[in-house]
Amino acid sequence: MEQDSTDIRPGERLAHLAPAEDACLRFIGRIATPFLTREDCPRQGDLDGPVCRLEVDPPWSDALDGIEAFETIEVLYWLHESRRDLITQSPRGDGQTRGTFSLRSPVRPNPIGTSCVRLVRREGAVLVVRGLDCLDGTPLLDIKPDRCAYTPQVAEKAADHG
Ligand code: SAM
Repeated sequence: MEQDSTDIRPGERLAHLAPAEDACLRFIGRIATPFLTREDCPRQGDLDGPVCRLEVDPPWSDALDGIEAFETIEVLYWLHESRRDLITQSPRGDGQTRGTFSLRSPVRPNPIGTSCVRLVRREGAVLVVRGLDCLDGTPLLDIKPDRCAYTPQVAEKAADHG
């Protein structure tokens, strides 16, 4: 997305950056939500919010096997319409600024969003969930069992695969 140096609020500062290097992330699918504009999106998802769909691309369908065991899962996504150059931000536009890393704003150098969502059901390569806050069509980066749900079940760490 092209960055606009003029579209910043009083007190905000931006970094003048070389084009981003490719971190070689792979999108694993897309997220379908009822939120068509940023204004439609909640600031954070609600576990009782509307149903959304994590649509995993074909090579990764079997990578979902076992996920049904978890009531809540962690979703990572790429907030693709965000600018990426703000060092300080004024989320309310009132001139009161905070550092980007002290905010959960979508505007950050690597616009990764995370949400813990309620898993409603699996439909093949699609996970139906509640609890998201992102635009329809947001690229999907990763899906993990919610760490709280997983920690009590985790076995002693094996020697390989970290
Ligand atoms: N829950 C995530 C987190 O905490 O990392 C994201 C929180 S962020 C405050 C959520 C906001 O990002 C939404 O309210 C919307 O304004 C914006 N947003 C949602 N999807 C986006 C997208 N694909 N690109 C850019 N901004 C997006």
